[in-house]
Amino acid sequence: MTESDYPASWYAATRDVDKPRAPLAAQEEADVAVVGGGFAGLHTARLLARQGKRVMLLERRRIGWGASGRNGGFVGPGYAQRSGALIDRLGLDHARRLYAQSQRGVAIVREAIAELGRPDILMGSGKLSVSRTDQGAGFAERTRKLAEQLGASFEPWETSRVRAVLATKRYHQAIHDPASFHIHPLNLALTLTDDIERQGGRVHENTEAIGLTRDGKGWRLRTPRGGVRAQHVVLAGNADLGAVQPGVARAVLPVATYVAVTGKLGPRLGEAVRWTGAISDTRRAGDYYRVVDGDRLLWGGRITTDTSEPPRLREMMRGDILSVYPQLGEIEIAYAWPGIMGYAPHKMPQVGETEPGLWVCSAFGGHGVAQTAAGADAVAAGILGDPSRWRLFAPFGTGWAGGPAGRAATQLAYWGLQMRDWWDEKRQAQNAETLRT
Ligand SMILES: Cc1cc2nc3c(=O)[nH]c(=O)nc-3n(C[C@H](O)[C@H](O)[C@H](O)COP(=O)(O)OP(=O)(O)OC[C@H]3O[C@@H](n4cnc5c(N)ncnc54)[C@H](O)[C@@H]3O)c2cc1C
Repeated sequence: MTESDYPASWYAATRDVDKPRAPLAAQEEADVAVVGGGFAGLHTARLLARQGKRVMLLERRRIGWGASGRNGGFVGPGYAQRSGALIDRLGLDHARRLYAQSQRGVAIVREAIAELGRPDILMGSGKLSVSRTDQGAGFAERTRKLAEQLGASFEPWETSRVRAVLATKRYHQAIHDPASFHIHPLNLALTLTDDIERQGGRVHENTEAIGLTRDGKGWRLRTPRGGVRAQHVVLAGNADLGAVQPGVARAVLPVATYVAVTGKLGPRLGEAVRWTGAISDTRRAGDYYRVVDGDRLLWGGRITTDTSEPPRLREMMRGDILSVYPQLGEIEIAYAWPGIMGYAPHKMPQVGETEPGLWVCSAFGGHGVAQTAAGADAVAAGILGDPSRWRLFAPFGTGWAGGPAGRAATQLAYWGLQMRDWWDEKRQAQNAETLRT
């Protein structure tokens, strides 16, 4: 185990022994060239290699260096955009098919872990989405109706049931999804890479794609010391695609979020969090967390369009944890790291063929561990001749995310939404106080 090259994180410290892949240093040919060694690129390359395509994947730094190797590790259906908003915009039938595609993504991740003989990557099952405000009497009925409309497995939990497993007064009702689970994301990325190579695919790290041009019926990708000519190119670079295709890069807005992992907390953690699945709260920029390594808390939260790392990140994360579980008392933050999510303005992924042979699989936002597999499945099916899956994403084009002005507008919008969440919580607390007195 070494931490060289990867940013310091609990995942990097507990990752499999990985073998670095050599940079591309020649002119090569492939059926499909994939830009980006995160989950979007890895699933696309693996699904196509398994179908006998000659695949080459290029990664600017290391496999899983971006969001895919640093995230909360939650795997579950749905998208960054809420299902209710998708039903309103697209109608129930289309929204239900999109949801089914995300369930397919969950299944791809689960099956990969089983097929590749790595049950240890799956670290816990089930997910609770907890509300910090009282959802009122109609909550259970509304939740069941939405689950039935979408063909989903989630179900309502009343406040007493939530508080029986999470010892905090902050939470009210929850939505429990037994289909979700949580994983060690960096080890999944490394395991998928090994399988791509086992299937005959080629993977090059420290290889940035810096140019893309049409070449007859195919495309040519340029890298600093070589290049690849391929019939199909898949751009899976998330919010960091760079100069290779500026139009697609501008359509994805980078948004930072943070993860911390505590030192070993002993039995006091089990008294506060008696749930081995994943937990997130339903605020717009809410907390998401889980117990790892027996008695450590892995805690994620906050979002900002300022992508530089805050100087007091550990203190910030400690404060967030103690605001929900003050009984944990003195806690050491053993690791804390930032990560960048890529958002399109509509909060849906960008998946599809933008010109003949040129594919995009990007902008999965904060909900991408299963959704990248869903997008990859749609792109791989498209390359193999079935356009029906990626066309589900066609209403969400690769529109401009607005550059620096877009970032400022997004930050303002999030602050507004956070204010609204804060105000809702405050108002309910005051109302409860008035009723008691
Ligand atoms: C802190 C954090 C917590 C999160 N928690 C969760 C969670 O719990 N559950 C969930 O579902 N989602 C979560 N997400 C979101 C999820 O991680 C992402 O949506 C998903 O990993 C995106 O995968 P990707 O392959 O699109 O991007 P990335 O993993 O960012 O990969 C893109 C890769 O492309 C490479 N690249 C870019 N341009 C080029 C180029 N020109 N040439 C070569 N290589 C290039 C980059 O170096 C990078 O490695 C979280 C994200 C973050 C940051």
